[in-house]
Amino acid sequence: MPEKRIWNFNPGPSTLPAAVLERAQKEMLNYAQTGMSVMELSHRSKAYEAIHNEAAALLSELLGIPAGYKILFLQGGASLQFAMIPMNFLAAGKSADYVLSGYWAQKAFKEAKAYGTVRAAGTTESVNFNRVPTAAELQLDAGAAYCHITSNNTIFGTQWKTFPDTGSVPLVADMSSDILSRKIDAGRFAMIYAGAQKNLGPAGVTVVAIREDFLATGRPEVSPILKYATHAENNSLYNTPPCFAIYIVKLVLEWAKGLGGIAAVEKRNEEKGKLLYGTIDGNAGFFKGTADPGSRSLMNVTFRLPSEELEAKFISEAAAAGFGGLKGHRSVGGIRVSMYNALEPEGIKALTDFMKEFAKKNG
Ligand SMILES: *Cc1c(COP(=O)(O)O)cnc(C)c1O
Repeated sequence: MPEKRIWNFNPGPSTLPAAVLERAQKEMLNYAQTGMSVMELSHRSKAYEAIHNEAAALLSELLGIPAGYKILFLQGGASLQFAMIPMNFLAAGKSADYVLSGYWAQKAFKEAKAYGTVRAAGTTESVNFNRVPTAAELQLDAGAAYCHITSNNTIFGTQWKTFPDTGSVPLVADMSSDILSRKIDAGRFAMIYAGAQKNLGPAGVTVVAIREDFLATGRPEVSPILKYATHAENNSLYNTPPCFAIYIVKLVLEWAKGLGGIAAVEKRNEEKGKLLYGTIDGNAGFFKGTADPGSRSLMNVTFRLPSEELEAKFISEAAAAGFGGLKGHRSVGGIRVSMYNALEPEGIKALTDFMKEFAKKNG
């Protein structure tokens, strides 16, 4: 049993800022002189509404969301969004484009197929998703209801560096594994969504930023609870929201703002990436990155060792040294280092020291 917090590279749910957990601990029994925990507050109370509205305002501010968007807090994970998006926006007689850049993109595509006509507008499956498609490889339908992309491919360790230009077709992005990790031009997206458990907080809440003109195109026949318009009209208080998860999201956003906002978070992430990819490339005879350098993710770093035996040894010795969550997804194998926003740069420094030592001893 570890006596202290380990360096946690779990892919999701994942590490949270220690300062956020400490703050939540301090406020656990008596939140802001209410005499109760946030978990015990009414979702209609002034104290909770302040948390709720502040979380939305901070998210909007930090992401640089322009006027004319709604911020929503929904449940059902990013996976329910895979179904709600086509349910609401894939009108009869229309088709939607999906860019298949990895496992989660394929899952979104599969859910959409259940509702209507969808097209694969590009895929890198033939190269085991080791990069995102190039602009030239995309075959976009100019009449599509929307085009869906996955900004960061959590399992394959790839990330879009420039987002595709879909013209007047609304661009919808699953940003579950890289939201708030870098500056984006939010106004280019009709909708951005993310399960909170990688970069924003605990599991149980999904954040959505949706442009009002896109929202207005939603199909009226969808059942109220699954309609974006219902949640937008009710400020995400149509039913009881996951209050405690939203409270933690608010604390994480305050923490990110305290670091200096998205520019500072992005700089931290770039520094972590430089250190870790530098260590992989600097020991290229031992570590081999699986993602094409042009698509390398700054959130999930995937690499292989010379043999599966050495990979197993690496994971077990790393665990003993206080590094957890390093086993790669079974579809890629090898090692995956998930280093979301909250992962402190010192963790990557310590891990790369361990990696160099391991390569020296076993190479
Ligand atoms: C983790 C992940 C999901 C799944 O999220 P759930 O909240 O478990 O539904 C979807 N998309 C991406 C890109 C992810 O990384």
